[in-house]
Amino acid sequence: MPEGPEIRKAADYVEKAVVGREVLEIFFAFDHLKDYEEILKGRHILRVDTKGKAMLTRFDNGYTIYSHNQLYGKWYTRNAYNYPKTNRQLRFAIHNEKKSALLYSASDIEVLRDEEVEAHPFIAKVGPDILSEDVTKEELVERFHEKRFHRRKWTSLLLDQAFIGGIGNYLRSEILFVAGIHPELRPVDCTEEQLEKAAQASIDLMWQSYKHKGITNDLELAEKLKASGAKRYEYRHWVFNREGKACRVDGTEIIKFRAGSRRCYYCPTCQSK
Ligand SMILES: [Zn+2]
Repeated sequence: MPEGPEIRKAADYVEKAVVGREVLEIFFAFDHLKDYEEILKGRHILRVDTKGKAMLTRFDNGYTIYSHNQLYGKWYTRNAYNYPKTNRQLRFAIHNEKKSALLYSASDIEVLRDEEVEAHPFIAKVGPDILSEDVTKEELVERFHEKRFHRRKWTSLLLDQAFIGGIGNYLRSEILFVAGIHPELRPVDCTEEQLEKAAQASIDLMWQSYKHKGITNDLELAEKLKASGAKRYEYRHWVFNREGKACRVDGTEIIKFRAGSRRCYYCPTCQSK
């Protein structure tokens, strides 16, 4: 599943393709949205916002398209009406004179009035979005102390979109590693210093992943490994996907386990209890 950084990247591409050009045609696959095709045609798109893993395409006539890629959704931006070869089903398309932005496979698409966006069930409960809001380390630490969060395990918190929007499976393992926190712990078990590290790591890794194509490893180290012939999956992360490999810091074997039915990785010495 794409995580916040990948969704923001996709939103950047969609924005680049559609903002500043009159919409020539809108296509919705779902019958209940068909009536909106005419309403949105001929309008302009102001921008594409993201909130966690949701995308909000803002039109200039008071309408916003909410879309969530869930597991299978995928955006393509192409030259106008140039469809990719794919077995996926086209669900939503924006066409202008030059470009088409095409959303395949996603089933979670809604047309909202701007004033309805805040009350949308997902938007209303999603936590702060580091990539689209000015979220500070202090605000996150405060959040870690909140009653509704501080006695839950980090492994479940970090995947809960109500905690911080946009964090997914690889970021979960990577944030805990960089913060030096054992995955069995809860915020309440951590020192203030660990909480600060977790907050900083959440911010830094989201931004680094967004700017550097999903790389969460130390950038210099990743560059070195790449230059010496390592494949992307070998240099991309600190611990994620590295079961049985040596920790990049102290050489300990990386451990993989399941948390919330999804794989999680950690170094038992860098992240001791
Ligand atoms: Zn280690």
